[in-house]
Amino acid sequence: MTNATHPFDALMDITARPEVVFVRGAGSYLWDDNRNRYLDFVQGWAVNPLGHAPTVVAEALAAQAKRLLTPSPAFFNGPSLQLAKALVEQSCFDQVFFANSGAEANEGAIKLARKFGAKYKNGAHEIITFEGGFHGRTLATMSASGKKAFEPLFEPKVPGFPKAKLNDIESVRRLISASTVAVMLEPIQGEAGVWPATDEFLKELRALTQQRGLLLIVDEIQTGMGRTGKLFAYEHAGIEPDIMTLGKGIGGGVPLAALLATEHASCFDHGDQGGTFNGNPLMCAAGLAVLAQIGQPDFLKSVADTGLFLESELQRLSSRHGLGDIRGRGLLLALDLKMPIGAAIVAQAFAAGVLVNSPQPDTLRFIPALNVTREEILAMIDCLDTVLTKVGAARRVA
Ligand SMILES: *Cc1c(COP(=O)(O)O)cnc(C)c1O
Repeated sequence: MTNATHPFDALMDITARPEVVFVRGAGSYLWDDNRNRYLDFVQGWAVNPLGHAPTVVAEALAAQAKRLLTPSPAFFNGPSLQLAKALVEQSCFDQVFFANSGAEANEGAIKLARKFGAKYKNGAHEIITFEGGFHGRTLATMSASGKKAFEPLFEPKVPGFPKAKLNDIESVRRLISASTVAVMLEPIQGEAGVWPATDEFLKELRALTQQRGLLLIVDEIQTGMGRTGKLFAYEHAGIEPDIMTLGKGIGGGVPLAALLATEHASCFDHGDQGGTFNGNPLMCAAGLAVLAQIGQPDFLKSVADTGLFLESELQRLSSRHGLGDIRGRGLLLALDLKMPIGAAIVAQAFAAGVLVNSPQPDTLRFIPALNVTREEILAMIDCLDTVLTKVGAARRVA
């Protein structure tokens, strides 16, 4: 056995990470162990709707931790019952299964659709998904994803996920066969670089799936929980899907996810689905504290307003530096850089104490706390202004 010699060596090296250790967070700010402060427009990849370490979540966790952690997934507990009831009341769905990660919730959605096919559609099992889509990092969810970089990995993949083109209803229609049971998509493709399904496309998709007896599954792991200015992004299109998955923001920073289904689609039998920590009261208590804030109409309206403010500021920044369009909705926005300078900007912004994310080489993504202030937005824009000026000057010299 070798001993780790460097403080970072004992962790599997699964991605490039800056060599600092983060020790504290509050609202839109993070601090590292050198007391550097960072203004955070990534928020753990959109998992902190109320910012870092929100008091309401900390208090809910502390209170629940002293009361009951895990009775057993084979027993009911109060927080999971309350959170399921609240989610059902505020959505078009009737039943909830709690999971510990987004990928696990999507695995559940895939299993539920296959179960539906086995029960009601002669074993139909194919789920049409989309080029550019991202549904997680388990084997089935990587297979369901349409991410190019996943294609050569971990072969053979799980079969049964033909890929259509986003916003092209004919590409979906062409893939439907007797084996098809469902269509699954993100209302806005997040990891692909914030590419929205249009409201029109979602309406067409709902009509088509209804007409052909297929389930419509929305992966709202990134778009749900107020991120787009409505509690769930499907509401913008005025449609009612059959199945939805939630993750990221639902726990306010702790691992919680959910699979929701209408009565019609909720067809698991005993033994089909479960998990040791699923629906544990500790995480569900955090979820209740988050939903109590986000579910308020005033809160959602402020997300929409703040989103418009960020969008207009990004627009001005883009004009000043000759960049491209702004995409997205609410506080899930992207700036098209028109050049592969994303990584350079992320690195320079980091050095200047601002965290932004570049999901694609030519794209910056903004997923701040949903209660981010206008002052914080202006401070981030100011930093990007300086960084873009430097990067632009460097490109002109090169
Ligand atoms: C992040 C994400 C996932 C995966 O969630 P994990 O909690 O990382 O497993 C799935 N779908 C979408 C749309 C996501 O943004």
